[in-house]
Parts: sequence; C-alpha cells; structure tokens
Amino acid sequence: MRPTWVEIDLNSIKTNLETVKSIVGDNVSVLAIVKADAYGHGAVTVSKTLINSGVEKLGVATLEEAMELRESGINHPIIILGGIQKEELDDVIKHGIIPTIYDLKILEELSNAAKKINKNYSYHLKIDTGMSRLGIKHQDLDLFFEKHAKYNNLRLVGLFSHLSMADDISSDYTEMQITLFHESLKRFIELNIEPEYHHLANSAAIQNYPLSHGNMVRPGIMIYGAGAFNGFKLLPVMKLKSKIIQLKLHEKGTSVSYGGTYITDKKSLIATIPIGYADGYLRRLSNKAFVSVNGERAPVVGRVCMDFIMVDVTEINNVNVGDVVTLFGDGNVSLDDVADWAETIPYEIMTLVGKRVHRLFL
Ligand SMILES: *Cc1c(COP(=O)(O)O)cnc(C)c1O
Repeated sequence: MRPTWVEIDLNSIKTNLETVKSIVGDNVSVLAIVKADAYGHGAVTVSKTLINSGVEKLGVATLEEAMELRESGINHPIIILGGIQKEELDDVIKHGIIPTIYDLKILEELSNAAKKINKNYSYHLKIDTGMSRLGIKHQDLDLFFEKHAKYNNLRLVGLFSHLSMADDISSDYTEMQITLFHESLKRFIELNIEPEYHHLANSAAIQNYPLSHGNMVRPGIMIYGAGAFNGFKLLPVMKLKSKIIQLKLHEKGTSVSYGGTYITDKKSLIATIPIGYADGYLRRLSNKAFVSVNGERAPVVGRVCMDFIMVDVTEINNVNVGDVVTLFGDGNVSLDDVADWAETIPYEIMTLVGKRVHRLFL
C-alpha cells in the first residue's frame, strides 16, 4: 500500500459531539451533517459512530449520499438538505429518506409520487431568510399556505433555514435572519401547521447564537474538530500522513520540482513525499506550507506535483527514508494552518482529501 493515509480519531468525533450537546442542552436534537463523505472522513463509519453516540438524525447533501448510508445498513432518519429533483422522488420514497422541499413544484411532485403508492410522506421545508441559495422566500410563504393544504398525503415535519454569516459576530445580519425565521415560524403556528422540528444553526451559530438553536441543530465542521469559537475546545479528528520515500543531498543552486520555482540557496537535504494535489494537497501550497517531521516543521519547497511534494529537511535532526511526515493534524501543523497557507477554509482542506488516500479509523 502507498504510504499516504489519513487517521480518523473516532473518539474525538464522540467528544466533539458531546461538546455540541453540552452547548445546546438536552432539549435540542442533533441533526449531524455527514455530507461530502462526512467532510472527507468516511460517511459510513462516521455515521455509525454518531448514531452510537445518540444523534437523532443524519444530514446529507444528495440522494447518492443518502443511498450509500442505506446500502451500508443504516436505517436511521436521513435528511437530504440539498433538495431533490423529480427523477429522484421514487428512490427517496422507496428508501424512506426525508426530503427538503424548497419550491412548490417539487412539493406537488412529491405528493403525486407518494400517492401513486398510497403513501403518506414527511418532508422538511426550507425557507430563504437571507442566504439567497435554496428555499422559498419568506415573502412567498402565502403561496405555500395556499397550496400545501391540497397535498393532504404530505406532512410538514420540519421548517428550516440557513445562516450565511454566523461566523461573523460583528455583523447584525444573523440577528436579522433569526428574526425572519421566528416570524415565519409564527405564521405556521398561527395556521395550526406546527412543524415538529425547526432548525437554523450550523456550527458557527451553535456557538455564537443561542437564539438560533430552535429545537434541532445541524453541526458539521464542529464534529470534525474545526471551526471553534468563543473558547470552545474541539479535538482534531483527521491527521493526514505520509512517509519520506527518498532523501537527497543537493548542491546550492539546484532547481526543485516543476518550473524551477525553488532553487536551493545552500547545500540542502531534500525529501520526496508521495502526496500531491490529486490527493487534495493543494497546488497553491507550493513554497508556502510546512509539514511536520520528527516533531519539527519543515518547508514544502518547489511546486506541489500531482503525486509528490518535496520538503527541505536540512535543519531536521536524524531524518531517514521511511520517517512519517504529518501534513496536518499534529501539534506542529494544524488543519487551520494548512487552510491559512492555502488561503481557504478548513472545510475545503478536509473535503478535498482524495479517494486514493486510505482512511484509517482509530
Ligand atoms: C453543511 C450544512 C450545515 C453544516 O455546516 P457547518 O458549518 O459545517 O456546521 C448545516 N446546514 C446546512 C443546510 C448545510 O448545508
């Protein structure tokens, strides 16, 4: 096996989930987000861990993601947050997956598809309170109220919306969204359409906006140990690792990797590591990132290739071929460091870890 792998610490997932629960309290359910292969961690194993730790529901983005869980024997409630298309309705119903409805056309189609097989069916309705992505605009709710009564084989079990700036407490946009959501919910209740669940909070809102908690929260990144606010402590879950497969001493003036963007400025010991941008180690980390070798930081030199990087280990004591290199996840190099060097967010670094990187669950 190629010596490039991620270690996933399932105990840290459990601990992070406990942190979520301690913030929101016992009366709030947890819809754990496992979309995008559980943010790159492996959806099936992570979902089973979360179910064992007591999450009420799982959230995915697509029907395929929901089916992967069903096919692995997971019968827990699964919500597709990303909405569904007409062609997917039969599979959604057949596998008992809870759809998100974000427009009236698909509501009608869901009703028809369920009627065909004499079924009553439940759904969550998404309203747009300011993200301007999926959802019925709250101004258009009248139309929903007019129409939904027709579909008497459908049951609205959840009302939700999504926040776009909950990571920025200096903005008052989130308060505006929360208020709109509460006003919308009130209209449902006044019309005696009380959804069992109302939910709004992603990880940032769980930590920054208690008023957004409703009676269910949707943590994603927190479970995976990133995106901590307000001094809350989350444990890192993913460690990306590889090994030195070649070591060479180069003279001063040697060009390293494609394009000669790095020239050694002294006699240098350069290590070749079998990980590249095809594994999700972004090319824009070229000449920017550091990795952890033998407890110390060593710089990535030259361009990141598809399958390899080179690292200057001249200053590291006692390096050998076969030594483990941590790309992120130990005390020297964190996921947040890599995200900063790549000028992106930890979400992107996690979810890009490629298919050919073996997942090792601890
Ligand atoms: C991805 C997603 C979440 C989770 O967001 P985090 O910031 O990772 O906690 C919550 N709700 C919806 C609708 C999402 O798409």
